Amino acid sequence: MAKLTEYTEALQLVLANTRKIKTIAVDLSDSLGYFLAQNIFANSDLPRFTSSAADGYIVKMDDVKDANEDNPITLPLKGEIKAGDFSKVKLKRGETYRILTGAPIPQGAESVVMKEFTNQNGDKIIFKTSTKHGDNVRYKGEEFKKGDKAIATNTFISPAVVGLLATFGIRKVKVFQKPKVAVLVTGNELVQIDKKIKPGQIYDSNFYTLSSALKEMDIDAINLGIAKDDKNDLLKKISVGLESADILLVSGGISVGEYDYVQDIFDELRVKKIFWRIAMKPGKPTYFGVKGKKLVFGLPGNPVASLLVFSRLVEPAIQKVMGKLEHKPIILFARLEHDLKKRSKRLEFVRAKLNTTENGELTVSATKGQDSHMLGGMVEANCLIYFPMEMELLNKGTKVKVELIH
Ligand code: AMP
Ligand code: MG
Repeated sequence: MAKLTEYTEALQLVLANTRKIKTIAVDLSDSLGYFLAQNIFANSDLPRFTSSAADGYIVKMDDVKDANEDNPITLPLKGEIKAGDFSKVKLKRGETYRILTGAPIPQGAESVVMKEFTNQNGDKIIFKTSTKHGDNVRYKGEEFKKGDKAIATNTFISPAVVGLLATFGIRKVKVFQKPKVAVLVTGNELVQIDKKIKPGQIYDSNFYTLSSALKEMDIDAINLGIAKDDKNDLLKKISVGLESADILLVSGGISVGEYDYVQDIFDELRVKKIFWRIAMKPGKPTYFGVKGKKLVFGLPGNPVASLLVFSRLVEPAIQKVMGKLEHKPIILFARLEHDLKKRSKRLEFVRAKLNTTENGELTVSATKGQDSHMLGGMVEANCLIYFPMEMELLNKGTKVKVELIH
């Protein structure tokens, strides 16, 4: 049988075959979770005007330069400037105005003394501190000058991005469209959870894990139902998937069993095979192919393998379609809390729990139930340990490569 493809190569092949779809314009309030398909240039200075960063009193520095706790200095209070006002006042020497956070700084004012360092006595303000030029002042354009590139294209639209777009008054943005993803689960033994279960049968869980993983990316799966291990049924349902979706996920029936027909059907439907079988555990039987621009994944039926292959290969592909420029998971190093052994000559993604000790060191331990049919081990896990292909033993105390999962 053909050599297994290494995981890193498999990932590269998937990404190399992945194309972005189209761009669409969405309302700001719907933009969260997309990637920008345009650079955003500042359409005004930010801040828009010079304003106060504190509740306090505007002064000329010289007026309060000798002020301190033992030598308070008193200035007459001439008025008040609230947020939302635009005062034409011009501050003169020997006077002060109350100013509130966010209110424009009027002409002549050099700094704002915080209310906390003053007292009021009728229409006089007593200053108990000196001040430096610009204290508690936010200057017009200090963050962005009009015309600056404020947000680069392909940036993920987080709540902060939405907020910055709103700050510029931008109501519509161009983003990359999300792909349509169809999910088919296969196996004679599978029953839908609303049906009665008979001996020898199991409930389908893969549709639920896969569609939930998609939902986390705000993608509604196209549900192709359950196919029997039957060529006609598979042909019919896989054809529908190829017509209706940009990315097709088929779980089960992709291994070497007598009734694993999924690959035959992919061949029959002229899906071009890019690889089949990866040197990775769980996930060995994984298939990847393309039909035109469409991506086709045959995922292992085992529940953990199915979900794990989704996160290792499918999710990076979807993110690339959606406009993410680089797949660069954040890798941490953590000390193993126990020995870890394996016999396979594959890269193992060990489901594990990352902990922090009192002195801030990261430690990690494998969860119970590492077999690829045991979802429980994944329920407990918050990370994956990379157990390298060529290694058979990782000793307690070794620093291992770890990736957080959700
Ligand atoms: P297969 O990849 O079809 O050989 O399936 C491998 C194992 O995963 C078998 O024990 C199947 O019963 C199980 N399995 C396959 N599909 C599902 C599914 N949708 N939900 C839960 N278990 C499944
Ligand atoms: Mg099967």
